[in-house]
Amino acid sequence: MAKLGFIGLGHMGSPMALNLIKSGHQVRVFDLSADAVNALVTQGAEAASSTQDVLDCAEIIFTMLPEGKHVRQVYLGEQGLLSKAPKGSFFCDCSTIDVQTAREVAKQAESLGHTMLDAPVSGGTKGAEAGTLSFMVGGKQQSFERVKPFLEAMGKNLFYTGASGNGQLTKICNNMMLAVQMLSTCEAFVLAEKMGLDKQTLFDVASVSSGQCWSLTSYCPVPGPVPSSPANNDYQAGFTAAMMLKDIGLSQMAAQDAGTETSMGKLSQQLYEKFIAEGQGEVDFSGIIKML
Ligand code: NAD
Repeated sequence: MAKLGFIGLGHMGSPMALNLIKSGHQVRVFDLSADAVNALVTQGAEAASSTQDVLDCAEIIFTMLPEGKHVRQVYLGEQGLLSKAPKGSFFCDCSTIDVQTAREVAKQAESLGHTMLDAPVSGGTKGAEAGTLSFMVGGKQQSFERVKPFLEAMGKNLFYTGASGNGQLTKICNNMMLAVQMLSTCEAFVLAEKMGLDKQTLFDVASVSSGQCWSLTSYCPVPGPVPSSPANNDYQAGFTAAMMLKDIGLSQMAAQDAGTETSMGKLSQQLYEKFIAEGQGEVDFSGIIKML
């Protein structure tokens, strides 16, 4: 049993922290929402009164926060975790944030003698509850080995991706591919319908031909061919269009930093912006077919 800290008990953080508790660890938790803290305390967590209060004796501190600005707020500055923590502390940030912030926080952590990993996840709230998340981890390999047993309590697929920030980069490149793939799949079904081709026929052929992709065979944006896809449930999310737009935005920030043109990524950003401006942010990201 280890003593752990967990900050950020939202849709993802709460079930992740709970899985650590279920694995027998002593977990001290903090969130700005007292209700979120109390809900976990009833399930065996210890309440912390502030972010710094989580530091006390914790072997590893996990964070699961909304965006880069929250990560900066929690880690950096005079009251931040990094300056308050005893030298040699170990942090693992599972939030999905921009690469630059992840690298900056890791650099600062290292300069103060701490260890920092970026470990964003995929798998959504269902994966967080079931303990089947995928983790993409950036930082030192030996630190990855140390955190592995704890990540295994929360996830199924653990990937070491290289230097600090590479976990974030892996996740946002994957999601940029997904956005473009989903849009092209939607467009193909729209075209097929307009021209009188049966959707099931297109699915049967493309799913065993060169158009095959995850957006088609696992998450088909039209009702029918894949019964478990959100299209069969009026596009209830799944993965919301707003979250997709956040991740594409991060990919575009990275592209700008790298001086690289990602035209398809940029176009997908514009299309999702338009979809969300129509009030569809909470709809599943495959629901963009309705706009197309
Ligand atoms: P959420 O908004 O439900 O939870 C974030 C929590 O952080 C909130 O409870 C909030 O009160 C807390 N918080 C914010 N600032 C804080 C601070 N200064 N100190 C303490 N707590 C603070 O978000 P979520 O859906 O759990 O997502 C968390 C991260 O995981 C995001 O980066 C998101 O992109 C990523 N992610 C989410 C999903 C998903 O399906 N929800 C899937 C994969 C990755």
